[in-house]
Amino acid sequence: MSGTWKTRTKLVHEGSRRSQYGEMAEAIFLTQGFVYPTAEAAEARFIQAGADEFIYARYGNPTTRMFEDRIASLEGTEDAFATASGMAAVNGALTSMLRAGDHVVSSRALFGSCLYILEEVLTRFGVKVTFVDGADLDQWRAAVTPGTKAVFFESMSNPTLELVDIRSVAEIAHAVGALVIVDNVFATPVFSRAVEQGADVIVYSTTKHIDGQGRALGGVICGTTQFIRKVVEPYMKHTGGSMSPFTAWMHLNGMATLDLRCRAMADSALRIAKALEGHPKLARVIFPGLESHPQHGLAMAQMGSGGTLVTFDIAGGKEAAFRFMDALEIAKISNNLGDAKTIATHPATTTHQRLPQDQKEALGITPGLIRLSVGLEDAEDLIADLMQALERA
Ligand SMILES: *Cc1c(COP(=O)(O)O)cnc(C)c1O
Repeated sequence: MSGTWKTRTKLVHEGSRRSQYGEMAEAIFLTQGFVYPTAEAAEARFIQAGADEFIYARYGNPTTRMFEDRIASLEGTEDAFATASGMAAVNGALTSMLRAGDHVVSSRALFGSCLYILEEVLTRFGVKVTFVDGADLDQWRAAVTPGTKAVFFESMSNPTLELVDIRSVAEIAHAVGALVIVDNVFATPVFSRAVEQGADVIVYSTTKHIDGQGRALGGVICGTTQFIRKVVEPYMKHTGGSMSPFTAWMHLNGMATLDLRCRAMADSALRIAKALEGHPKLARVIFPGLESHPQHGLAMAQMGSGGTLVTFDIAGGKEAAFRFMDALEIAKISNNLGDAKTIATHPATTTHQRLPQDQKEALGITPGLIRLSVGLEDAEDLIADLMQALERA
């Protein structure tokens, strides 16, 4: 039945498991262990646990499993493994499948901690990593070799909202038998069509849109049952990066409104981007939903939306950017994204502070750049707030 459900139905019902009490809301099984009726049953479960049989919460838990089943169904993958954070998911997806001597190709424009895993951690264990400009397909073609085991990229980059063409990179990767691992946070599971576009493994920081209210840190790895249960699960369950049942329960609640929230945020983001475009105090407005975005066509084909973030460059550099941020009355100064509350971030001095100047320039992280994660407030109020703050910039 659920195979034919549409997104919103899945987000409310998919994966629900009810106990003998028939509870309406998803139950939170805040337990790390499980009791076996007999010693023989314990032995049997350690040999092969059945679908409704659990051993230890680091391996799996009924609440966590509900969340995994729901997100896998939404994403269109066979299975999923929930992790303690987005970084546990990125690390788990890569480290579980790689060994010394393997080769990985990755886009360069990465979330700082993702860059650390690829540049520092994997290379320390003898994995070779080649970085490319993710938007340049010729660089991907030149970098993959018959020894390439995986390609990794963020489908939309932070903070300059550049897209990687999933379908084309997947074709290049699959030609040499490499696995396509996509960090899809900025695209959101609502606008993702990554599986049909050729992604093999999709990773989310559930801290962002899936929690949606800035409460819990979490992550998830989506993929085939073979990859999730035979490659990822053994690695994750023995190295300790599993999701807490409490977090899974919050995510289950958050998912009921995920589609509504992401669409409302994306609608407001488009209105905001249109209102900001051409403003005399702005050097540029970057939003994939604007026709002026160089990859507007790709964004529409790949996600059918411009997403929920808008980035803009305030003429006047850091001083003007700081005056703008300090004048905001509704939008909060922070560094999370996908929250119900609108968040303004100054990447050059916070999330990307540690990057050397030449790399900031290469990635387009200018001193006046602001990343706005559009929340659920009324778009008119947000536009008025941004306009009054720009006046004072
Ligand atoms: C936030 C984020 C992560 C890391 O997720 P955490 O939940 O903070 O560990 C990874 N990739 C991207 C693109 C992110 O935005």
